[in-house]
Amino acid sequence: MNIYVPKQIYPYESYISIFYKIMRYSYLRGDELLKDSGTTYGQHRMPFVVPNWLASSAIGESESHIPTQFAPPTQILNPTASIRFCPLCMDVGFHSVFSCIKFYRYCSVHDVELVEMCPECVDRFIGNTPIGSYFYEQEIRGVTQHFCKNCNLSWPDLGHRSKFKVDCALIARALEIGNLEAKWFRALMRGVCSGSYHCADYYSNDVTREALVVPLERLLGIPCPDRLVGQIFSHQPVHWIIPDSPNNEQYDYLELHDYQQIRMTLYACCEALEEKYLRGHQDCLARINSLTEYGATTGVICSFCSCALAYVLMRLKLACIKWPTITSVSGRKSGFDCFIQRAPCPYSSADISKIITACYLNFLGEIQYWIEKGISFTIELNAEFPWYRAGKHQSFFIRRSSYRFRNACTQDLDYQQLFKLTRSSRTSGLSILYDDNEISVRHVLTL
Ligand SMILES: [Zn+2]
Ligand SMILES: [Zn+2]
Ligand SMILES: [Zn+2]
Repeated sequence: MNIYVPKQIYPYESYISIFYKIMRYSYLRGDELLKDSGTTYGQHRMPFVVPNWLASSAIGESESHIPTQFAPPTQILNPTASIRFCPLCMDVGFHSVFSCIKFYRYCSVHDVELVEMCPECVDRFIGNTPIGSYFYEQEIRGVTQHFCKNCNLSWPDLGHRSKFKVDCALIARALEIGNLEAKWFRALMRGVCSGSYHCADYYSNDVTREALVVPLERLLGIPCPDRLVGQIFSHQPVHWIIPDSPNNEQYDYLELHDYQQIRMTLYACCEALEEKYLRGHQDCLARINSLTEYGATTGVICSFCSCALAYVLMRLKLACIKWPTITSVSGRKSGFDCFIQRAPCPYSSADISKIITACYLNFLGEIQYWIEKGISFTIELNAEFPWYRAGKHQSFFIRRSSYRFRNACTQDLDYQQLFKLTRSSRTSGLSILYDDNEISVRHVLTL
């Protein structure tokens, strides 16, 4: 079978787009083309490797046209159900491989929002439409310009196959920007394969991804696609910390007196941390801590203090597998059971001090990040520690909080007026109210 493959295609053009052009020039329906090339429909719909029809085309770097190179399969749009496109790119016959990724919503070349293709155009693009009904005369084959009234898609004039038309300026742009994006996504996919929770989290949902782009840029040392289109709001510097990985075996048989010793060390470390970071915030600490105590009534609203809040949360984290609990107790008095049971760590005083300080600073930085989004949210705690997740030691990051933020309770009127703290009546976690608008508390921050 003589399959005509256009010699010139765009860098990072999607396999769907190339397939469409081959159909048009070969004058074959999609299923015929797949049969001729020995590619199953399943392989074509969600290609994990370069499909036969593309492999045999001798296009250089054929993997760069396959979206599964850049995101896990769960994050790839099923092209039979949904295809998104950039109107300006499609106008010159280019559909980007990155637009096959579910969360990819802006064309980085043109900085415009992607548009959802209508079902009729989807059928045409993937080759479900009988070839005779494509909008051009049989003899001319490629030549046409057609506008869809449903989705405003301007189908390109592909030209005659002997002089296949490409936009040279767009090729250069698509290559330059595509290389940067490909580098980013490939680095993340390598992270996913090597078991990085942060890289996997990046692909999990929009909110987490947005929170992770800046730390991951720092970790990978490359700019993210969101930065290319100016979608980054946070300017907090980020530091990554690689925790020491202790030999856990020695903690298998903890004796009672070991517990007692660890408790005392933790207690001393917390006192030292209070001394260092919370001097001048003791009133704030008492106020915020009272919100966590047993029998604390919801509906009490107190002024915001980031230093005290981060400390109370850190203490609750050390104590509780999950918080809020039904029998919530004072953050300052509730012990260290979760830390001792869940997060084996070196038990020297210096090591413990380092790791709880990192935990405290991590909370402080996260709270600033979430507050600066300007939304109301509730805070809950789980049993994972920043440096110890799912039973494994992991690198973790700290967003540096600003001086202004740490001293908002005494100096910054903006924060004092805009942010308040209470206990949510719905989830009973601590809630940061933005602009006193309690109705808008829907976001849950899990630390
Ligand atoms: Zn575009
Ligand atoms: Zn359409
Ligand atoms: Zn304070």
